[in-house]
Amino acid sequence: MTERILVIGGDAGGMAAISQVRNRRPDVEIVVLERSDWTSYSACGIPYAVGGEVDPIERLQARTPQQFRDRHRVDVRMRHEAMAIDLDGRFVEVRAHESERTYRLSFDQILIGTGGSPVRPDLPGIDRALRAHTLDDAHRLLAELSGDPRTAVVVGGGFIGIEMAEAFVHRGLRTTLVDSGAQLIRAFDPDMAARIEHTLRDNGVNVVLGARVSAIDPDSVVTAAGRLPSDLVVLGVGTVPNSALAADAGLELGVHGSVVVDRRQQTSAAGVFAAGDCAQSMHLVSGRPVHLPLGTVANKQSRVAGINLGGGYATFPGVLGTAIVKVFNREVARTGLSESEAAAAGFGAVSTTIESTTRAGYYPGAEPMAVKVIAERATGRLLGFQIFGGVGAAKRIDSCAVALTAGFDAETLLQTDLAYAPPFSPAWDPVQVACREVLKLL
Ligand SMILES: Cc1cc2nc3c(=O)[nH]c(=O)nc-3n(C[C@H](O)[C@H](O)[C@H](O)COP(=O)(O)OP(=O)(O)OC[C@H]3O[C@@H](n4cnc5c(N)ncnc54)[C@H](O)[C@@H]3O)c2cc1C
Repeated sequence: MTERILVIGGDAGGMAAISQVRNRRPDVEIVVLERSDWTSYSACGIPYAVGGEVDPIERLQARTPQQFRDRHRVDVRMRHEAMAIDLDGRFVEVRAHESERTYRLSFDQILIGTGGSPVRPDLPGIDRALRAHTLDDAHRLLAELSGDPRTAVVVGGGFIGIEMAEAFVHRGLRTTLVDSGAQLIRAFDPDMAARIEHTLRDNGVNVVLGARVSAIDPDSVVTAAGRLPSDLVVLGVGTVPNSALAADAGLELGVHGSVVVDRRQQTSAAGVFAAGDCAQSMHLVSGRPVHLPLGTVANKQSRVAGINLGGGYATFPGVLGTAIVKVFNREVARTGLSESEAAAAGFGAVSTTIESTTRAGYYPGAEPMAVKVIAERATGRLLGFQIFGGVGAAKRIDSCAVALTAGFDAETLLQTDLAYAPPFSPAWDPVQVACREVLKLL
């Protein structure tokens, strides 16, 4: 019998594995089960489709099911949902949505790429709240916008909430961003989060912090800080891993209920792999397990799983939580540990924030930027960076991520031969200025 590799989930966590498997194993049968109407789409682009920068929305689909069938000879079964995995019997119970037929599908090896779901708080009126997670959600949001709403409330001040708030401002809506915490995006330290908050306010977003939402009424969102008028309500309060299928099959779960995997993306059962928003990762700086639902991570984990499923050997070393977001005319990024995360991980850390410019100060278009660096007090080892500034500021986070991956101390990054010409940076890149300053604190 032909060997069968089964993939559950048709987005990055499942599909980035496909070409790796096929290149190594022309002989195997590959079956993909996807319960929705979409494969390989960029959820990351949804805020820009809603904001009107990307049009039409179909441009967010990277590859159609037919392209996978044609290019990689994959049996892609759309609107087919995996209901249960029997590890001993080596089969999956599948439900075909259209016919409502259920059937058993045997497998030799399996990749679980079931992703995550937006957190849905149990609130009165929650059914009125829209999500921004899938292309179906995005279509629903665009349909609502065509009804000419005037006011929007975004619940949750994380990356997605901030991007959605900007999208609604672009559409001309009076927009409120509400969060129960004392600051926006908790992956940043409060000083950097304050810069994000000011940018949102400067661009017309009504930011309401420290206000827990208690209900969603037909015309407003009810919070501890009063009623917020809302023709449209969107939730962005976090992502939880879709791991029930794995848990019911007896696989080990870890942080936030994500599926525990080893360095090869193999779960606690042999021949069963997991990748993407459903899976756990290892933090490269803290050395602790984390759940970081990001597209970058999903693609890399899935590629590694695919190589191993195809009989090769690959490992995924871990993550830094590197993330970047545009906030109107400002750019913001982070990598590694924040001050509070460094403390929680047991590091004795020092930190400093420097102010510089994106280009040589005299060169046209130079804009202010700030770099915060966190380093280990005893050794100078770099632990984390946060960047805020104008165009060209934030992608500098990539050199910071490389330095953290390599285990650099501040002196080593300070001495690294980074590129310079006036249209691109000051002679000392702002990241290196930050390293120079933090060395004075050791
Ligand atoms: C608005 C938004 C903006 C984002 N922006 C960024 C960004 O800028 N940068 C970044 O790195 N990341 C970003 N992300 C996160 C990124 O989109 C996710 O990390 C990525 O999509 C994860 O891919 P995945 O395949 O693991 O999960 P998902 O995209 O959730 O895909 C899982 C798939 O599995 C299917 N499925 C689930 N259960 C079953 C089942 N039982 N049977 C069959 N099919 C099943 C689902 O229908 C789904 O299609 C953003 C996310 C959102 C929502």
